[in-house]
Amino acid sequence: MKKSIFAFSREKLSQDLINQDEKPFRSVQIFEWIYRKKARSFLEMSNVAKKSQEKLEALYSFDQLEVETWQESADGTKKFLFRLADGNFIETVLMHFNYGDSVCISTQVGCNMGCAFCASGINKRKRNLTVDEMVLQVLSIDERLREENKRVSHIVIMGIGEPFDNYDNVIDFIQIMNDNKGLEIGARHITLSTCGIVPKIKEFALLPLQINLAISLHFPTNEQRNKYMPINHAYPLEELFSAIRFYYEKTNRRITFEYILMDSINDSLEDAGNLVKLVRGLNCYVNLIPMNSTKPEWRRSLQEKTDAFYDYLMKNNVSVTLRKEQGHDIDAACGQLRIKRETQKWQD
Ligand code: SAH
Repeated sequence: MKKSIFAFSREKLSQDLINQDEKPFRSVQIFEWIYRKKARSFLEMSNVAKKSQEKLEALYSFDQLEVETWQESADGTKKFLFRLADGNFIETVLMHFNYGDSVCISTQVGCNMGCAFCASGINKRKRNLTVDEMVLQVLSIDERLREENKRVSHIVIMGIGEPFDNYDNVIDFIQIMNDNKGLEIGARHITLSTCGIVPKIKEFALLPLQINLAISLHFPTNEQRNKYMPINHAYPLEELFSAIRFYYEKTNRRITFEYILMDSINDSLEDAGNLVKLVRGLNCYVNLIPMNSTKPEWRRSLQEKTDAFYDYLMKNNVSVTLRKEQGHDIDAACGQLRIKRETQKWQD
């Protein structure tokens, strides 16, 4: 069976080419062709010798993801449902900001983290996404944007799945996106979000990558976090924060904490006080996220509670932002489109 050409970082492609008795520098040519000039066959690669073109054509495939359906929200956010070769579905979201066009990618089919408030975890993980399945989510959208003379400028690894539960593939994916012979999406324009898999945070800290790290914190005490985020049993807040301090020592990079404000669950001033204590002294900022309601008992915080929480953090010198909501009317929150499709409620 052919291997997907989109599954290879440049380094791994060079190695694979050597194994095929091809020159390793061809990986540079190939990257420029597939990521810059959007070639979809080796036969288009005019600077590659005819004999090599034919040989490579037999070895690697250019198979794309199939767009099963997509939705557009009033604010222009687009959500794509891709069908994978094995019939599974994944979601990818394209958001337009004044600073550029950002793609939110999925890293797994389903998710095993089991966060009580999250739609993604309703379906358990079926499998990890391969490198090419992640790359093709971005490429497919980049291709559409190029028709409007735009490009994918930012990537957030915050779709369905836990990226650190698919670590090796996600790292290869990031390297491909960042490659200066390919799409060359700046590391500072890439953000990875994790629910807090401590050993991987430490491993990640040692990589020479300048990408942004976000932690889905959501609760400021072990008692609350244990209740709603099973990962906290394995890695409680003390261990999580020790890994975060290690990450900061190694990378000097400011960390983001995501905090979904949930009505009467984590939005009191006492919660805000606990949060301040937890993050005090860290170079970080807190991103407050309006909740997408997944079940009746999970509601978004009232406006006055949201404002009071925000002000409390500000007054206590914690850098805080309130996430602008995108695509609320198209269920752009993780997992919601896929669930609709799988429960056959989708109307084309
Ligand atoms: N597993 C990773 C990335 C996927 S979740 C992580 O946990 O970070 C991406 C983000 O969406 C996380 O911050 C997650 O907590 C948040 N999220 C999950 N359910 C949500 C909901 N119902 N409303 C708003 N944000 C939600």
